[in-house]
Amino acid sequence: MSYNKRLSFEFFPPKTESGMVKLRETRSTLGRLSPAFFSVTYGAGGSTRDTTRNAVMDIHSDGYDVAPHLSFGGDDEASVLSLLEDYRQHGIKRIVALRGDMPSGMGMARLVYANELVRFIRHHTGNHFEIEVAAYPEIHPEAKSYEEDIYYLKQKFDDGANSALTQYFYDADAYSWFLESCRHAGITAPIYPGIMPITNYQNLARFSARCGASIPRWVAKQLESYGSKQDDIINFGIELVTRLCENLLAAGAPGLHFYTMNQSEPTSSICSNLGIRAEAG
Ligand code: FAD
Repeated sequence: MSYNKRLSFEFFPPKTESGMVKLRETRSTLGRLSPAFFSVTYGAGGSTRDTTRNAVMDIHSDGYDVAPHLSFGGDDEASVLSLLEDYRQHGIKRIVALRGDMPSGMGMARLVYANELVRFIRHHTGNHFEIEVAAYPEIHPEAKSYEEDIYYLKQKFDDGANSALTQYFYDADAYSWFLESCRHAGITAPIYPGIMPITNYQNLARFSARCGASIPRWVAKQLESYGSKQDDIINFGIELVTRLCENLLAAGAPGLHFYTMNQSEPTSSICSNLGIRAEAG
């Protein structure tokens, strides 16, 4: 089996120098899998403006394509534009445009919807950036309905986005159904499934409850039964996520976007199972 679709890896910006050193090792390992790009998240409300930029520039200086995530957060138009110009001048060519969430403990008048940010980027920078947006096969937690969430996803494409990366999920049917519904709604752009490898059940359960990603009951029960046996959790997770990726690719996924949590494993093992070969080096 060989893999010939788009591959991308997501990181969060390290807070410390040792975190940055570890991230360099991770990206050098994952870089051998020839990803189309790496992406770096942006903290709620712009809380990681500098660390995201630093990580982006560090990855870019190694010759990789890298996409900063960006949202308005609490910023005004001038600061968002200045960050965009900074990225443009440094040769960054891709942005993941998001609304983001309300930072805890910080009041804010209004969150700027992602489609408005996409429009803003296109207005000020033309076609310089390839724009990725977020999509939710299990539907965004605040969406009023399935149809309405897809309507607003279409809005992001109509305003100039090129493709979407999804929230993670563990039910391949949710993605197939979503793809079909998007096609019916007139969305023709590629929608890349977001893949979350499993390393820690408690963290995954907590985060999933917050972001509206469901963990199938049988998967939760299986993970719970391993207790603190970390190797069993990892091995089960690799097997489960490999099968998920195989099903998604068979269902027409145009590629895969991995939430790596800044670790090369278990993403590398899943990629290897999928026939994604590392270049020598
Ligand atoms: P939007 O597309 O703006 O949608 C938000 C909600 O509003 C949805 O319910 C939608 O149906 C509705 N809506 C959309 N447009 C309109 C409109 N014009 N009028 C009325 N309602 C509307 N968060 C971070 O803080 N930093 C990150 O780096 C980050 N990276 C992410 C990467 C990916 C691939 C994904 C899937 C999510 C990421 N998130 C990140 C989380 C994301 O910010 C949250 O899920 C947030 O709640 C929604 O962002 P969005 O861009 O999808 O919002």
